[in-house]
Amino acid sequence: MNQFTLKAYAKINLGLDVVRRLPNGYHEVKMVMQTVGIYDELNFTKKDSGILVTVEAEGLPEGTVPADENNLIYKAAKQLMDKYHVTEGIHIHLRKNIPVAAGMAGGSTDAAATYRGVNRMFNLGATEEEICEMAVKVGADVPYCVKGGTALSEGIGEVLTMLPDAPDCYVLVAKPDIFVSTKYVYENLHADTLKSHPDIDGMVTAIKEGNLDGVICRMENVLETVTEKAYPVIAKIKNFMEEHGAEKAMMSGSGPTVFGIYKDAAKAKEGYEALQAAGLAKQVFLTNLINPKKEEN
Ligand code: ATP
Repeated sequence: MNQFTLKAYAKINLGLDVVRRLPNGYHEVKMVMQTVGIYDELNFTKKDSGILVTVEAEGLPEGTVPADENNLIYKAAKQLMDKYHVTEGIHIHLRKNIPVAAGMAGGSTDAAATYRGVNRMFNLGATEEEICEMAVKVGADVPYCVKGGTALSEGIGEVLTMLPDAPDCYVLVAKPDIFVSTKYVYENLHADTLKSHPDIDGMVTAIKEGNLDGVICRMENVLETVTEKAYPVIAKIKNFMEEHGAEKAMMSGSGPTVFGIYKDAAKAKEGYEALQAAGLAKQVFLTNLINPKKEEN
């Protein structure tokens, strides 16, 4: 097949802790990662030589998502094609849907889908483990995106323990009209002075037991201490969701995306419509938790 399309799913963090700052400037994290049903589409077409990346990102200023070798799609394709000495070329067209610079691993999941697409296009036979080893060089969250589903992520994000699927629920996702740099958030986090740490181990146990309430009551993200202070709209959206039926609302990753967990479909729909009308966020989605390995792709 010389042309096909793959979905690249976004993630949220159900819990996010920063354990400590490492001497090399990286941070040791402990996070529960979860795939949600918001996705980018990557169209792969074989060509004679080289790697061409094109981007369709409606509503975003030109250049927000680079269409050159700075795109993680380009980096992943080049790395895998070089390793396997591929002489033919590929055109990868990205249709961007996932909020950008938002804490939803948009670039990382595109990179992960690129490994799958290049592997399939050229019948390289690279294993998932092999791809994960390469992927961490493109970004700490890329190995998780290669696997997808529910996972505990430790180290700098690359030490993964796969978990059973988290219990079903509805997820209201809102991205305010601001861009937050992950670097800024980590640089302004004082990991050693954090007053509280999320109970990530308790959340993992709750997931294994299929106990949604046990997950919800442990939702906490230490990066809120930085991003929420800098951007008050984040707290506003969280409060709005909780006043409109969410069991709990929290920021994902380094933000500014906020998500709210709902048990009830009707309440989730009401919350979605109210949030759209309130104009607090530029992008609003109503979705659910998914395991991409169980989806058609
Ligand atoms: P994370 O949750 O992993 O911190 P993020 O949601 O904060 O990710 P991304 O959406 O991945 O951030 O984008 C961060 C920056 O990376 C963008 O501003 C853009 O310049 C660059 N970038 C490179 N490749 C991509 C891509 N395929 N999609 C989006 N952004 C990309």
